[in-house]
This record gives sequence, structure tokens and C-alpha cells, in this order.
Amino acid sequence: MRIANFDHDRIGIVQSGSVADISELIDYDPGSWPPTGMLRFIGSFDEIKPKLSEMLGRARWTPLSKVKLNCPILWPNKVIAYPANYHDHISEMKKGTGLISTFTASGQGFFLKANSSLSGPEDPIVLPPLSREIHHECELAIIIGKGGRNIGPQRALEHIFGYSCLIDVVVRGKEERVMRKSFDSFCPMGPYLVTADEIADFADIDLELSVNSELRQKANTRDLIVSVPEMIAMASSVMTLFPGDIIASGTPAGVGRLKANDRVEIRIPGVGEMMLNVTQGAEGSHAVWEKT
Ligand code: MN
Repeated sequence: MRIANFDHDRIGIVQSGSVADISELIDYDPGSWPPTGMLRFIGSFDEIKPKLSEMLGRARWTPLSKVKLNCPILWPNKVIAYPANYHDHISEMKKGTGLISTFTASGQGFFLKANSSLSGPEDPIVLPPLSREIHHECELAIIIGKGGRNIGPQRALEHIFGYSCLIDVVVRGKEERVMRKSFDSFCPMGPYLVTADEIADFADIDLELSVNSELRQKANTRDLIVSVPEMIAMASSVMTLFPGDIIASGTPAGVGRLKANDRVEIRIPGVGEMMLNVTQGAEGSHAVWEKT
């Protein structure tokens, strides 16, 4: 099942290029603040699921071209992100910056990105006016369904609601990683959520990213250093996970520069694809960026 957030925080099921509005199955007020309808949908999915087929039978279907798709989860409790989580990217970073191999997700754990950095499949990536390199990272997003604490790897799959495409955008440099990765629009996710039952094997998912039709990143989740279940185990050893929490699973090799007017495409077969415009913004400069 493919679940989208569209127009003013409406929730819909996507099938063959159209979306059916199922917002009324969820107890929330679409368009109100904070936009938490999708969290309620995910948190009560087991109760909603039996009502869905009847609802879809009488639903009005609207072509996707007639709606605006938003980031599928607008107000998550947290966006967890794993750094350096593919062997080939580690060697690339070692070459470039002298980082040592202990600087991996298995030795270093995870970090958080600001939730407000999330943006949707029809939103541009807006670059701040800095004289720094700004890079793309092609990542699989894991969406938490059932929450919990201390979820062991052998139970982790029961806690996955689904998957989505995610680009982790980052200003390269030595400042705190959270600040470099948290500009507005630095976490495009979408185009919708795909429920876990549609993915045959979480350890065999292809992902790729192109800039202006040039392939920059290509990988498969079999090459992850910290596996999907272990990411959930590690994160939940520290924090309670909640329905709708997002885990960005780390980048493979091929990270590279984004410039204004670029077109970035992320493609994860079975999960989705997004084509995003990169634009130059006016906001984001601060003296802190001029110190190094
Ligand atoms: Mn990343």
C-alpha cells in the first residue's frame, strides 16, 4: 500500500497514478496545526486497515497530477540518521578528508536531523548562500510503525511501518553535524510511504541518485554496515521510538555537490522516485560559517 500526504494535510492511498482521500478514517482536522494526521494513521493502522477496502470502493480517485504531494510525514517525533553506513562511502571519505574507519555508523551510532528540515517530493531543495560545498546523500527512509524501547534486532521488523525515499543534504565542514544538516528543505522525503509488506527483502533494496541525469550514487541495502534491524535496535536502546519516526539509513559512495538549477532524482525500485529542483535561496548566512 502506498500512502501519501497531499494538498492541505489530506491522507490518501495511491494506486496507478491516482489518489483516494481517506482522511475521514482518521480522527484529526486536516489543515490544522500541528499536522499530525499521518502519525494517527500510522499509530492506528491496525484498526484502520479493515475499513480501508470498503472506503476505497466508494472513494473518489484524483489523478496525482491534480494534487500537490507533501512530505508524507510532516510532524514526526524525530528524524534519526545514521552516518557513513556503507563500506564504499567510508573509503571515499577516508580518501577525501583523512577520516579513519572507526568513523562509521557501527562505531559512532546515529545523530538527529531537525524535523523541520523535511520537505516533500514537489518542493525544491533551497541552498543557503554559503561558499561551502553542499552535498546530496541518497538514503532509504525506514518508517516506524509500532513504537517501543529496547527493541531487539529479532523483533525489529515488527516495528517497521514502511519505507520511503530520502535525500540527506549536508553542508560539508567541521561545525556540528546537526546544524550542517538541518537547513529547511535539507531532508526531502517521499513521494509517499510504501508499507513494509510490499518489500520482499529489506536487505535487498536497490537505491540510486542522479544529478542532471548523471548517475552519482548506486547501492543495495545488502551492503549496509549497520543493518535495518540493528539500526532500530541501536536507536531504541537510547530513545523510545514512536509511530511515524523516520530513520535515514545512511549514504553509500558517490556523494557530491549540489548547485542551483540542478535536477536531482532519487530512485528506489518498489519504494518510489522523486525528481527535485535545486534552487538558490537568500536565507541561511551567518558568521558561524565564515570561521573555518
Ligand atoms: Mn546521511
